[in-house]
Amino acid sequence: MAYLKRFGIAFASVFLVYLGVLIYPQPLFNYYIAYQNYKVWSDRPIPPDITHVLDDVTRRLKTSTLYEPDRPLRIFFCNASWRLWLYGHFSNKMAGIADTCLARNIYIRESDITLNTIHPPNSKPLTDAEHRPLSYFIAHEATHIIESWRFGRFAFMRHPLWVSEGYADYVGKGGDFDFDENRKLLIENDPLMDVQKSGVYRRFHLEVFFLLHKKGFAVDTIFAHPPREEDVIAEIKALP
Ligand SMILES: [Zn+2]
Repeated sequence: MAYLKRFGIAFASVFLVYLGVLIYPQPLFNYYIAYQNYKVWSDRPIPPDITHVLDDVTRRLKTSTLYEPDRPLRIFFCNASWRLWLYGHFSNKMAGIADTCLARNIYIRESDITLNTIHPPNSKPLTDAEHRPLSYFIAHEATHIIESWRFGRFAFMRHPLWVSEGYADYVGKGGDFDFDENRKLLIENDPLMDVQKSGVYRRFHLEVFFLLHKKGFAVDTIFAHPPREEDVIAEIKALP
């Protein structure tokens, strides 16, 4: 029993330390700048070009009717893969991740801020790189934070993945989207439109774009009463 008790105390201690590191990650990042409503931490010096990247993030976020420019957005660059692993639910393969539940922080993988690019998670070139600079990834994750401001910290559990990711990509792309071209790719069953195969959210973006701009739905309506995804796909394919 004593052994079990010691194990329980040790486990609880590790969990509390982990929770503390998630809630307050700042001490693990040596470099910091503040710019407009952004607070940025990194484990490497932050080049001055960060302001250009953040200006482009703002341009993208302004395409969202839910965006509140006075609320701070906290971004942490995890150039060391162990930091991304720590904040990325024990995986270092993602481009970025938003903690929408605890601290509402954004974590971004190793990046070249001056070139406005992320370093791909594996040895292959980044899929859809032309449409996905670093500013896109930050804006995408920031949109998840904005969704959590609007709908609550655990709202992602209520909303279908295609809605929350589709809207994050809609905002993240900042208008860089050709509806007709992507509809054609969908009809042709192009692998780019398969989220599992491509790892990109073009299909979800197309569905949300359709509801906003072809059906005239408000963002709140889409989140409150999302239609069935298969019905949305059928309607998109049936367009004249
Ligand atoms: Zn996302």
